[in-house]
Amino acid sequence: MNTSYQQDMVFENSLHFAKSLDEKDTLKKFREKFYIPIVNEKECIYFTGNSLGLQPKTTQDFVLNELEDWANYGVEGHFHAKNPWVSYHEMFPDLLAEVVGALPEEIVVMNQLTVNLHLLMISFYRPTKKRFKIICEAKAFPSDQYAFQSQAALHGFKPEDAIIEVQPREGSSYIETQDILDAISQHGEETALVIFSGVNYYSGQVFNMQQICKAAHEVGANCGFDLAHAAGNVALELHDWNVDFACWCSYKYLNSGPGGVSGAFIHNRHHNNSNLLRLAGWWGHDKENRFKMGAEFKPIPTAEGWQLSNAPVLSMAAHLASLEIFAEAGMHNLVTKGKQLSAYLIYILEHINSSAKEKIIDIITPIHSEERGCQVSMLMLKDGKKIFEELIKAGVIADWREPNVIRVAPVPLYNSFEDVYQFGQIISKFIQ
Ligand SMILES: *Cc1c(COP(=O)(O)O)cnc(C)c1O
Repeated sequence: MNTSYQQDMVFENSLHFAKSLDEKDTLKKFREKFYIPIVNEKECIYFTGNSLGLQPKTTQDFVLNELEDWANYGVEGHFHAKNPWVSYHEMFPDLLAEVVGALPEEIVVMNQLTVNLHLLMISFYRPTKKRFKIICEAKAFPSDQYAFQSQAALHGFKPEDAIIEVQPREGSSYIETQDILDAISQHGEETALVIFSGVNYYSGQVFNMQQICKAAHEVGANCGFDLAHAAGNVALELHDWNVDFACWCSYKYLNSGPGGVSGAFIHNRHHNNSNLLRLAGWWGHDKENRFKMGAEFKPIPTAEGWQLSNAPVLSMAAHLASLEIFAEAGMHNLVTKGKQLSAYLIYILEHINSSAKEKIIDIITPIHSEERGCQVSMLMLKDGKKIFEELIKAGVIADWREPNVIRVAPVPLYNSFEDVYQFGQIISKFIQ
């Protein structure tokens, strides 16, 4: 039987079948480009690429290059390094354009994610007495909730008045698009900003960013997205969707190392708007005159105009190593394989459910292919914590979220269909 999550594939729960999918996989050689952690003397099943992506084998060389240039040149490295540090950040927009669906001039790599969220809200959350609400998803990532609350407070609003969370319907774990659109039109003229994640970190739901953005603009609000779990995972068309701003981190699907540098998108229709407030710093200032050290701020008329500080080159070197791999693999191929991996995982989990005495795993990620990336979140109906601990012992690295959710993300660059099959074998041992 071919159900909705399987797209055009008919799956089988067998090692032979999983191996045959790996044989046909045009991305299979990419696994060798990564260090897979060793657990119990063998490669683990690493299903937390949505939390911290694995290290590419090329990363050390990229970082070492910069350390060597620093040793050899000192301050002169700003101009004489192989990749001069003064313009180091300029290498990223071309590489990220395909990943987020934007023009290079709309992208800048800088800071960390929550910092960028705040900086962009300074520009795009400009509440007035009448128009002050922020519409967002219930259960947004905590850092985002804190950011929204503190931004509301910064402008003198009580978070409980300003922040409108759209909830899943009773008994569901993800949010209907229609309910988001209804909330936007209901709060209409009071809405200053609509901000969602691209992919909810908990449920793995992919939001319909295009429709959300259109609805926000129809009521005169700005629209932004936190793409922490979307960048490098799902197809994005930020420019064409007319998104006002977005930001993401580089250490989850983008494999650029713990605390890695973040990315930001600002639509080009805002670049020359001199009424748009921003927090300014010297790295956002007109490059021709930056070192004249004048007092008047003249922003670069691209997303670079939002930069504050000079670039963190060591962390960016790791980002560069990883993005070269993305360019080679192709975002479209990665999105396609990511959805196949999660479809296969859902198939196997449903197989386990149907052969157990009672249903053990409630899949809270939407099963429809447009509404998920590669993450699958499993609400464990029985013995959740025990099963999770057994998984760890058996060499699976997955993620536990209270009260009872195991999140797993087979990622297309280094996970295989065999990983998914073996995961199913391990988990079925603990379920009768
Ligand atoms: C991972 C994640 C963060 C983390 O923020 P940092 O500033 O990088 O520590 C924030 N928001 C979302 C939605 C995330 O998934």
